[in-house]
Amino acid sequence: MDENTAARRVLTNDEYQDAARRVREAARRSGTTLTPAATDDIVAALLTNAGLVAPPPEPEPGACTALFPDGEGLWAQCEQDLGHADEYHSDGELEWTDDHPDAVPPQC
Ligand SMILES: [Zn+2]
Repeated sequence: MDENTAARRVLTNDEYQDAARRVREAARRSGTTLTPAATDDIVAALLTNAGLVAPPPEPEPGACTALFPDGEGLWAQCEQDLGHADEYHSDGELEWTDDHPDAVPPQC
């Protein structure tokens, strides 16, 4: 499958919270209490493996609000100026366009 043509399905917030709860409960059964960050990391890894992605976060203000999920399923936000004319968005490592099926275009 070409990863540039097939969009990964984005979970709803409810689906994501349910998945995170199940991961925390499974860890607890093994005697481990996960931090929220560890839970998010594990859920993102599981979702990515299944071709799914967590709901995008609220973009940080003060920069372009374009969002894109990286290869690990973690959301990156464009670091360029709000409303930049360049069609490429970038967080300094990843570069993407609004045409990509996984991209969330700027909200301005
Ligand atoms: Zn941008």
